[in-house]
Amino acid sequence: MSELLVVGGGIMGLWAALCAARRGMAVRLVDQQRIGAGASGGLLGALMPHMPDRWNAKKQFQFDALVSLEDEIAQLEAETGLSPGYRRTGRLMPLAKPHLRDIALQHAQDADRHWRAGDRQFYWHVRDEGPEGWPGVEAKAHGLVFDTLAARVSPRKMLTVLRAALLQSPNVEINEGCGVRAIDPAHGRADLGDGSRITFGQCIIAAGVGSFPLIDALSGPMKATSGTAVKGQAALLKAEVDPALPVIFTDGVYIIAHDDGHVAIGSTSENSFADPSATDEQLDDLIRRAALLAPGLREAKVVERWAGLRPKSAGREPMVGRHPDHPNILVLTGGFKVSFGIAHRLARFAVDEIAGVPSIDMPSSFVCRDHIEALREKHL
Ligand SMILES: Cc1cc2nc3c(=O)[nH]c(=O)nc-3n(C[C@H](O)[C@H](O)[C@H](O)COP(=O)(O)OP(=O)(O)OC[C@H]3O[C@@H](n4cnc5c(N)ncnc54)[C@H](O)[C@@H]3O)c2cc1C
Repeated sequence: MSELLVVGGGIMGLWAALCAARRGMAVRLVDQQRIGAGASGGLLGALMPHMPDRWNAKKQFQFDALVSLEDEIAQLEAETGLSPGYRRTGRLMPLAKPHLRDIALQHAQDADRHWRAGDRQFYWHVRDEGPEGWPGVEAKAHGLVFDTLAARVSPRKMLTVLRAALLQSPNVEINEGCGVRAIDPAHGRADLGDGSRITFGQCIIAAGVGSFPLIDALSGPMKATSGTAVKGQAALLKAEVDPALPVIFTDGVYIIAHDDGHVAIGSTSENSFADPSATDEQLDDLIRRAALLAPGLREAKVVERWAGLRPKSAGREPMVGRHPDHPNILVLTGGFKVSFGIAHRLARFAVDEIAGVPSIDMPSSFVCRDHIEALREKHL
């Protein structure tokens, strides 16, 4: 059987490799550095739903993904005996102004209508009170929203679990430390950074921000590049906080209690930057804002400062599926800020396409063919 080449060992590539291995495909995953070297090796792991209003195919896809991830993780835990630190904690969002309460109450009705899956239902509660100090009194002066759909996972543990699951399969080979420099779809060949060459039957490009130059090179003339990098900084604090506490999210600040006595704080969103991996005063500011929101964090020690590059497609939506010009090339990237909640479903769609057995609907704005078409016509 000819091999599936997966380019990139982040959350996207690992799920793709696992889906394919479970289907009995022979898989080679190649990462230019190592698994988790990209954005997926970060600290946050918020699994956040879209707002429940103005419902559309994209929101439905993400909702289904967030609900189904729970079972996927239970399966992985059973297979590997490892935990990725997943918990459906819900999310608290302080209401900054009194009038936002009316809007939130409307959203509660929207959630009531749309956040249903079989006999399960998730809520957008509007409340006056939350857990003590989480957030502090000032932040909840006008009340808060508690959504019961949001969850969190430890990004690095998630990658460890996926790798462990992959290593159980005799069909999978993982090669780290040497990336793909160029892809020749006509001959099913990839040139690697060390000058060697490998052949493939099918290839999935899941290289995070490294995907875009590979896609551009395969796509002929386009009026813009297929995507860019948006830098983000985050921090990890040592704090004995109840790991069952919901994610706090307000005005760009996330506070996430993880299972192991750590709290993650994020994230900046930077379109221009000199050093992709440096942290600076923008992160200091985030940490300060987080401590104002959750006073229990004021004395907490910062144990890690981290920065990474999010893959953002030109169309802003994830980019998934077969390349319109090359039947043996698929794309799986552009998850931007929400990859951890949807990667398993995007990967399944891509692998379904290879297997020729479609099993899930994909919003058209996510489909690679439509991205490339838009880039050629430049109606982005
Ligand atoms: C600060 C910050 C906070 C975030 N918070 C969240 C969050 O709370 N929830 C969430 O869902 N998302 C979050 N994200 C976004 C999320 O991390 C990314 O969308 C996701 O990790 C992208 O995964 P990926 O697999 O597409 O790419 P990556 O994780 O970047 O993986 C790509 C891999 O491909 C490899 N590679 C690159 N080029 C090549 C090549 N040519 N050949 C071979 N290998 C190559 C890289 O070494 C890397 O290992 C955050 C991102 C940042 C930066």
